[in-house]
Formats: sequence, C-alpha cells, structure tokens
Amino acid sequence: MSPPLRLVLDGDALVTNWRALALQSGDARCGAAVKADGYGLGAIEVVRRISAAGCQNFFVAHWQEALALFGVVPAQQISVLNGFAIEDLQAVQNSGAIPVLNTPKQIAAWKGAGGGLCHVMLDSGINRLGIGPEQISAELFAGLQIDILMSHLACADEDAVQNVAQQRIFAQITSAISHKQRSLANSAGIMLGRDYHYDLTRPGLSIYGGIARSEMAAFIRPVVQIEACVLQIRQHKAGDPIGYNATYRCEQDMPVATIALGYADGYRRSFSSLGMARFEGAELPVLGRVSMDLVTLDSRAVPHLAEGDWVTVDYDLAGAASVSGASQYELLTGLSQRYRRIWR
Ligand SMILES: *Cc1c(COP(=O)(O)O)cnc(C)c1O
Repeated sequence: MSPPLRLVLDGDALVTNWRALALQSGDARCGAAVKADGYGLGAIEVVRRISAAGCQNFFVAHWQEALALFGVVPAQQISVLNGFAIEDLQAVQNSGAIPVLNTPKQIAAWKGAGGGLCHVMLDSGINRLGIGPEQISAELFAGLQIDILMSHLACADEDAVQNVAQQRIFAQITSAISHKQRSLANSAGIMLGRDYHYDLTRPGLSIYGGIARSEMAAFIRPVVQIEACVLQIRQHKAGDPIGYNATYRCEQDMPVATIALGYADGYRRSFSSLGMARFEGAELPVLGRVSMDLVTLDSRAVPHLAEGDWVTVDYDLAGAASVSGASQYELLTGLSQRYRRIWR
C-alpha cells in the first residue's frame, strides 16, 4: 500500500543548489550539513547526490546519524557536531567518523585515548556549544591533531555587527592553534563574503531550497514539493461549520475537499485558514483548522476535483515561513516519515 501523501524531491535542484553554494564559497571547499536526516529530506539520498557532485565533508549532529551514512560515503568524510559521550569513546574511535570536540573534557578524553584526527568547535560568540575563549590555553590543544577548527555564526542571516565581531574573534583565536583547515560559514555566512569563507564552508538550509538571506533567492531553487491525496469531497450548505472548533462556516453552498495531510506531517497548525493547495493551477484555500492527519480545502475553484486526485500544497519555504510563523528550518525538519519520498 502506498501512502496518501508524498514529498516530490528535485534531485537536480538539490545538486544545483550545492554547486551554487560551492561557487559562492570562492576558494573554499563546500561541505554540507546533513543532520536531522538531511533536514527532513532523507540523508542517504541527499548525501549520495551531493557526494557524486564532489562534496567531501558531511556534518551530522548525532552518532546515530553518522552510522546511517556508513557505506554511503567514507567514514572520515562524516563529522559529528555534537561531540560524544565519554562512555562511547571506544566506539567513536572505532567508527572512523570524526568527532567535533566541544569541551575541555572531551579533548582530555580524546587525548587520553590516543587521539587521532579530530575537529574542534570554538565558540566565537553564539554561546551555545564549543570551547569558549576563556577556556583556551596552549596546554589544552597541545598534542591534538586537529583537522577542522570551526566556529558557528549566530546572526549570519542578518547584517549584524556580531558577524564582524565573531569573524575577528575566530581569526584571532585560530591563529594560535595548530590545525589543517578552518571553517566558519553556514548557508547565510557564505554570503557575508570571502573573510568568512576560510578553507571550508558548511551550508545546510540553502542546499535544500531555503533562502537563508534574501539575495539567495536569485540562485537557490526549491527542492521540496508536498502532494496529498483527496480522501473525500462533500457538498456543504451555507453556514455549515468546518473542522475543529468550527472556525470556518461555509459562505454559501459549496464543495469541501479533505486531504491526507496534517500537523503530524509537519504541516503546521498555523496554516489553518492561511495555507493554500493547488490543482491544475487553481487555488484551493485551507478552510478552518489543520488537524493532526487531515486538512480541509475550499474546492469551489475545481468542480471536477475527485476523490483520489492529488493536490499540491504551497510550501515555498520563505513564503510558508512568513505565513506560518515557523522558520524555514522547522518547516523542513518537521516533515514526517509518513510521506513517500520520491526523487525526480
Ligand atoms: C546546522 C549547522 C550548519 C548549517 O547551517 P545552515 O544555516 O543550515 O546553513 C553549519 N554549522 C553548524 C555547526 C551547524 O550546526
């Protein structure tokens, strides 16, 4: 049985986006953040495609996410951003994937176990995860074999003075620590210019079609399309209430179509009465509340719409984010496992 909802994923757009970000990265090489199952699209399929396009650095958050990619790309191309639990040290070393060390305790444990190639996250001002400037000492890093020395920008999607401040701190603290390569920029950070590129960039969102900064709309293509099956169409009378809490009442006698999509699929409840679906180009506005597994649509514009037809649901990320109040990141990573994911 095949699911009544699907994500149609444009593999060509995915690769084109990654290549465009690589081009914008100038002399730096371009990696890819593929955590959270490739931002909801499916990490294996994402990694397979951008690896074939030349990407050699893949960033995940958890070890389980690294394990899922073994056999897809060489283990040493996978970096685990969240570090490791001390009790997993042996398994981490055996895995061949590279941990990003985030705390003095992790660094000490890594050295104690004989070290080996590692990455280090320095906190240049996001104050979230990583070695803070006050924790840095020559002794801390002595004997460590650091491949990528990295930091993460807090406000790259804005023109904030903090960007410049973080870039300066990063330049300064990394000059005293031995390393093979440096990396600072996420998707938005790439657009801040060459001072932010260093040796390697780490975009995520914009590979998947997200517009991290408005100027990226010129070259980033959408990757994700949501399609859902019409489960029922009924003719209602003027005044009939639709859905939970009767937040919509029919303006006139009219057809209402119910589709197999809901907030459990990441189609946020905030699209209630605001979202839009389409069939053969005609608009089918969302009526009333989005339920867990169902959405009701005004189907007056398509009198011939029938049970079993598939509608496309508007999910242009920048637009959908402003309609729903959710971030583009949430709109992608919330996409449920119930969709059939179809790569075109
Ligand atoms: C998620 C993440 C990225 C990618 O960020 P985007 O904004 O999605 O491009 C890069 N670096 C780190 C450390 C991250 O956590």
